[in-house]
Amino acid sequence: MQTEELLQFDREHLWHPYTSTTKPLPVYPVASASGVRIRLADGRELIDGMSSWWCAIHGYGHPVLDRALQEQVGRMSHVMFGGLTHAPAVELARLLVQMSPDPLDKVFLCDSGSVSVEVALKMALQFWQASGQPAKHRVVTVRGGYHGDTFHAMSVCDPVTGMHSLFEHSLPQQLFAPRPRCRFDGSWDGQELAAMEQLLATRHQEVAAVIIEPIVQGAGGMWFYHAKYLRGLRQLCDRYGVLLIFDEIATGFGRTGTLFAAEHAGVAPDIMCVGKAITGGYLSLAATLATIEVATTISNNPPGVFMHGPTFMGNPLACHVACASIRLLLDSPWQERVTAIGRQLAVELEPARTLPTVADVRVLGAIGVIETKEPVDMAVLQHFFVEQGVWIRPFGRLLYLMPPFIIEPDDLSSLTAALVRAAGSIHFP
Ligand SMILES: *Cc1c(COP(=O)(O)O)cnc(C)c1O
Repeated sequence: MQTEELLQFDREHLWHPYTSTTKPLPVYPVASASGVRIRLADGRELIDGMSSWWCAIHGYGHPVLDRALQEQVGRMSHVMFGGLTHAPAVELARLLVQMSPDPLDKVFLCDSGSVSVEVALKMALQFWQASGQPAKHRVVTVRGGYHGDTFHAMSVCDPVTGMHSLFEHSLPQQLFAPRPRCRFDGSWDGQELAAMEQLLATRHQEVAAVIIEPIVQGAGGMWFYHAKYLRGLRQLCDRYGVLLIFDEIATGFGRTGTLFAAEHAGVAPDIMCVGKAITGGYLSLAATLATIEVATTISNNPPGVFMHGPTFMGNPLACHVACASIRLLLDSPWQERVTAIGRQLAVELEPARTLPTVADVRVLGAIGVIETKEPVDMAVLQHFFVEQGVWIRPFGRLLYLMPPFIIEPDDLSSLTAALVRAAGSIHFP
């Protein structure tokens, strides 16, 4: 198929994320990708600033990961996980238990981030059912969060940006505290948790769990908040008998400068979701980890099992490439790389701070954000970035970078220069 034909068919038949079939936005046909470069069908090369939505931390077409997948294809691509097990799943669980906060000990493998959030919430509900407190069925979260697009995951996304009005009659009604306001690198305000405390104090008898993205709120606003918030939240959950769920799907595997973002606060959740970078961006895979207490309570009370089991659970290809990706990460100087990326982002994005269009500039780990005062026109900026030879996809008021960890300083400079230039060139309608 020629490129024009391919694009034509795409426009006529394919849905892309959050798009219309009648007014499709432009899409760019990709021929191949390697390292930090995405090669378009017309031969142009774009430096990748997105890691394909947090996933491709080692870049594209990494020889170690390519080889791992080929090896596993030779053994088996898939077998069902009901009644069968295999080395890739066991080895992955071993790595996850080893690297995650200590009390997390049981691993549920699933297909995508949204499903791992569904699984986490289901675990919390089954835990309270099993504990003889079925009234504890609601979930508390903070505004500005993003936890996925399936129904229960949507119900804990930010109510304004998270499609709540559209699906009002089908969504479970959850409880919302304000977005944490204290900046990650700012000063701490003792009143920060007052609204959350009020909510838990008055409603804990109906609350099963608090779910939150630790330190970094991703798709809900690329916001970095103070580590003391998580410490205080852990204490509140203990005081009011509520489980704490950390959604590390975006933050896991080094992105914020620690393996998991919860390490900035030194607190552990009762349940944790991981996904996105777990396979280095090769295949869709996620996991939900739980403490022994959560797992044992669910297992020792009727119905005596955890009620979930996806068809592709523990897919050997995904598990094996995840093991290879995690080992590649742990054997690399990832922390120095992330620190160096963060330092360069901070220096090179700083000039944007004084632009009249810019509200804030912030950096944490290998994440750099320019927040504009008004929403930007994504299609216009997308075109602008492609013309500049970079792949950056802004949304709302957010121009941001989260490049693969292997990016070289020169390529990173191309990304930051394009981002600052974009922030300087935008005209709000
Ligand atoms: C992306 C994301 C999800 C959803 O993951 P999918 O794999 O897209 O279903 C959930 N939580 C967070 C924090 C995410 O960034």
